[in-house]
Amino acid sequence: MRIHVDRDKCEGLGMCEAMASDFFELDDDDEMRVLDDSPDESQRGHVHSAVQACPVLALTLSG
Ligand code: SF4
Repeated sequence: MRIHVDRDKCEGLGMCEAMASDFFELDDDDEMRVLDDSPDESQRGHVHSAVQACPVLALTLSG
């Protein structure tokens, strides 16, 4: 499984961090960083929740 971020869409709103802070983090400039873009399969539910929480649909999962 791999996390993809559409940087043109991401507005640094932080919903993904709120849902799965092990994988997403906003820095001091509200720039979102993916901490681990290939999560273990056991984390799928967690990561999927974060993807679905993004209000601008900037996140997608593959694999
Ligand atoms: S929730 Fe969406 S817009 Fe907000 S930081 Fe995460 S990817 Fe970016």
